[in-house]
Amino acid sequence: MGRSSKDKRDIYYRLAKEEGWRARSAFKLLQLDEEFNLFKGVNRAVDLCAAPGSWSQVLSRKLRKWEEKGEKAEEGEEAEEVKIVAVDLQAMAPLPGVTQIQGDITKVSTAQEIIRHFEGLPADLVVCDGAPDVTGLHDVDEYIQAQLLLAALNITTHVLKPGGTFVAKIFRGKDVTLLYSQLKIFFSCVTCAKPRSSRNSSIEAFVVCQNYSPPEGYVPNMSNPLLDHSYDEDFNQLEGPNRIIVPFLACGDLSAFDSDRTYPLQLDAGKQYQYTPPTQPPIRPPYQQACHLRKNNLLSREDAPSISPNSSQEQQEP
Ligand code: SAM
Repeated sequence: MGRSSKDKRDIYYRLAKEEGWRARSAFKLLQLDEEFNLFKGVNRAVDLCAAPGSWSQVLSRKLRKWEEKGEKAEEGEEAEEVKIVAVDLQAMAPLPGVTQIQGDITKVSTAQEIIRHFEGLPADLVVCDGAPDVTGLHDVDEYIQAQLLLAALNITTHVLKPGGTFVAKIFRGKDVTLLYSQLKIFFSCVTCAKPRSSRNSSIEAFVVCQNYSPPEGYVPNMSNPLLDHSYDEDFNQLEGPNRIIVPFLACGDLSAFDSDRTYPLQLDAGKQYQYTPPTQPPIRPPYQQACHLRKNNLLSREDAPSISPNSSQEQQEP
C-alpha cells in the first residue's frame, strides 16, 4: 500500500492531519458533542485510554477555550480552573492543560491516582475510548472490550459528580444488552450513539450515559470485584447496595423426604427386596468395559479383550 493510499481512502484520516488532530478519533468525540452538548459547564474531565491523545486534544481545546473566554462564569462568579486528566498504558506526548497518568485503568492504583489529582473535587465528565489489541476472535475482543468498559465505569463511580456524564466506546456484540442494563443502574439516561466518523463496517459505537445517579447508599468501592479481581476476596464484606443478594427460596413441602437422610427399607414381613432397574440405563457408560471384565472374571488377565466403544454388548448392564 502506498504512503498516500489511506489519505485517498479515508476523509477523516486526511482531515485529522489537516486540522492537527493526533488521530481521526477526534472527530468521533466532536460529533458526539454536536449531538449531546457534552462540554457545556465542564471544568474537570477524565480521558481514559487516551493515547495518542486526540480526545485529550479535543478536551483541551474545547474546555480551555471556554476557560480563556470566561464563558462559563455566571455573572459575578470566577471561572473555575479547568483540569483534564488523561490515562493510558502508553506514554503520550504532552498537551497543554492535560495531566498524564501512565497506568492501567483496570487497576485500583490508577483510580486512586485520578482521585488524588482532583483533590477531592468530582469530575463533570469521564470519557473512555479504550480498545484492546484486537485478536480477530470476535467473542474474545467483545469480552475484553466489555471488561475495559466496566473498569472505566468503576473508575467513573469514584470520580464523577452526581448529574455528570460518562461516554465510552462499546462493541455492539450479542451481549451488549447486559452492559446497557449495568450502565442503567448508575445513569438515568443511556444512549448508544454512532458518530458519522465511526466506520459502518465496525461494531464500535459509543454509550453516552447522562445524569449520574448511583443507587441510594451506593459507596464506590476500591475492592470492587471488577477491579484487581481476586477470587480469595471476601465479597461478603460488601455492604448495602454494593452487596447483591438474590432471593433464596426453599421449594417443596416441609413434609417431603429429606435428601440428606437415609431412610431404611420398609419391607412387609416375609417379603424380599426387589431390585428395580433404571427407567433408562446409560447408553454407553464409561464403566462398560470394567463391568464386562468383572462379570466374566477377566479383570486380572493381561490378555483381556478390549471392547470397541460402539459395542452394544453390555448396554443392559445396570
Ligand atoms: N482516544 C484516543 C485518541 O483519540 O487518541 C485513542 C484511543 S486508542 C483507540 C485505545 C487506547 O486504549 C490505546 O492507546 C491503549 O493503550 C489504551 N488501553 C487499552 N487498554 C488499556 C488499559 N487497560 N488501561 C489503559 N489504557 C488502555
